[in-house]
Amino acid sequence: MRLLITAGPTREPLDPVRFISNRSSGKMGYAVAAAAARRGHRVVLVSGPVAIKPPAGVIFRKVETAAQMLSAVKAGLEKCDALVMAAAVADWRPATCARRKIKKNKMPAALPLKKNPDILMAVAPQKGKKIFVGFAAETDDSSAEPRRKLRQKKLDLIVANNVKRPGSGFETDTNRVTFYFADGKRKKLPRRPKKDIADRIVAWVEKERQMA
Ligand code: C5P
Repeated sequence: MRLLITAGPTREPLDPVRFISNRSSGKMGYAVAAAAARRGHRVVLVSGPVAIKPPAGVIFRKVETAAQMLSAVKAGLEKCDALVMAAAVADWRPATCARRKIKKNKMPAALPLKKNPDILMAVAPQKGKKIFVGFAAETDDSSAEPRRKLRQKKLDLIVANNVKRPGSGFETDTNRVTFYFADGKRKKLPRRPKKDIADRIVAWVEKERQMA
């Protein structure tokens, strides 16, 4: 299969030295990319700025902003069988980016923001027979938000985790996730290394692809 995988945060600049971002480490998305490459698939990894090295055997595209990630996803979409959006795309960006560093005393007390495009929503019309997998980082265990995102973003699978639980979420090497499938079923997994969860995601995509 050909997999297009996004990972890491995006960074939305305010001026040449400052940005808005989030705590995504990229570990979950990189684990999915590594698992897919290990299982013999062609992988394009589109990544925001992270501190870890791209896994061996993947085609690597580094991006910074949500707009750049959207362009890279659009560019790679046609040639993929599955899109896995593990990136924590910043929902907002500063309305303008100053060309020079904004002086401390000129910084507005409230920062005007603009909404970023939702990448999955933007590419949903091109889904066709491709398999779309998303992630949902939540701060509670409710299934309402993952289910809403699954439907709204036309996903086949959403992998939800509660980032507030110990051994789960950002920066950790383990995760505690629940898979929500488009047919309404769900599967809750115990705490597992991100590597194992990544393997299960790729194995599920393989099976889904075979059935299509
Ligand atoms: O941020 P949210 O919880 O809505 O993210 C759910 C899914 O949507 C994730 O897979 C994420 O990568 C994707 N997303 C996106 N574009 C955004 C925000 C999130 O594709 N602007």
